[in-house]
Amino acid sequence: FAPWTDPSAKPFIAFKNVTKRFGNFTAVDDLSLNIYHREFFALLGASGCGKSTLLRMLAGFEQPSSGEIILDGTDLAGTPPYKRPVNMMFQSYALFPHMTVEKNIAFGLKQDGMPKDEMVERVTQMLKLVKLEQFASRKPNQLSGGQRQRVALARSLAKRPKVLLLDEPLGALDKKLREETQFELMDLQQTLGLTFVVVTHDQEEAMTMADRIAVMSHGQVVQVATPGEIYEAPNCRFVADFIGDVNIFDGKVTTSGSGAVEISVESGLTIRTGATEAPATGTTVGFAIRPEKIRVTRTAPANASVNAAKGEIWDIAYLGDMTVFHIKLPGGKFVRASSLNAQRSVEDPFTYDQEVWVSFDENGGVLLKD
Ligand code: ATP
Repeated sequence: FAPWTDPSAKPFIAFKNVTKRFGNFTAVDDLSLNIYHREFFALLGASGCGKSTLLRMLAGFEQPSSGEIILDGTDLAGTPPYKRPVNMMFQSYALFPHMTVEKNIAFGLKQDGMPKDEMVERVTQMLKLVKLEQFASRKPNQLSGGQRQRVALARSLAKRPKVLLLDEPLGALDKKLREETQFELMDLQQTLGLTFVVVTHDQEEAMTMADRIAVMSHGQVVQVATPGEIYEAPNCRFVADFIGDVNIFDGKVTTSGSGAVEISVESGLTIRTGATEAPATGTTVGFAIRPEKIRVTRTAPANASVNAAKGEIWDIAYLGDMTVFHIKLPGGKFVRASSLNAQRSVEDPFTYDQEVWVSFDENGGVLLKD
């Protein structure tokens, strides 16, 4: 499933140069983005980056100041929220406290004037879908947070929208329940064959659930890619830093040519890395490398003149699945290295203050040109 790799595939949802201003503040800034049919798409970014505003414009609760939003070939301008084949599930769930679960789910159907038999059947179907059959006659305050979340989900799916919008759908759940629910949401999306657009500030959540992620900052999309691409090949410093743990070395290009560059960074470390478009000698660049790509050894690696440095273990954090080392290089820069405990050999009990070598492969990280 990767329609975005097919240049002839038509997007299901298209934002075209969409801008949203509130007074003289620009919340969404000339943003263009394609989302495909049956895609599980995540809008990821820090608080205030404009992700909810983008979702609300798709739902019709806000109008763009300029630009177009196309859904399934139709320009949505002028279509009121209730006429859009889109439904939104809010973080607060917005359940009616005085109504039973059943009535909450049936609410929108009743408003639409659905015949009673059909409505009962649809509600039963929805209760089954979210595994709440035994809870049909309870009120929201008689449910757990996770159950309430499922009622909200059932209610927003009852009208069978083509697109479900989820604004921080798991924000109110504790960590364990959130992780479980992530997989439930993925199953549900697959089963129903719907397009899901989820807004989250939680990168793990986006990485777990989404087919693709748009990383947003200041009303713009900074990178759109699969979770793997975003993690392995962030296209700029912001994305590298925002997603996961990373070491960023700043330096100047000393040698440039034939698909590789050498960079001289702090602590006298020389980094050699591949580059499709090698920046000119003298250019200031960054080099981003994930902790798990850094090797920690007692002895110097075979070629210690590049991509290797001597340092001192400053901190060791045992995290169960892995151990994270903080290693101080002579110039004072700290490097974060991690290794899976299942893969560590027993004869490497590194200790605090110990001298070690850190090293990495030429293609272990990416060049940041900004
Ligand atoms: P959060 O995760 O905190 O909800 P977000 O990325 O979803 O953040 P938005 O809710 O889209 O951010 O808001 C983007 C910016 O637009 C914020 O700075 C917010 O204060 C501003 N904003 C949103 N709605 C309005 C409004 N109705 N009037 C004025 N400013 C608004």
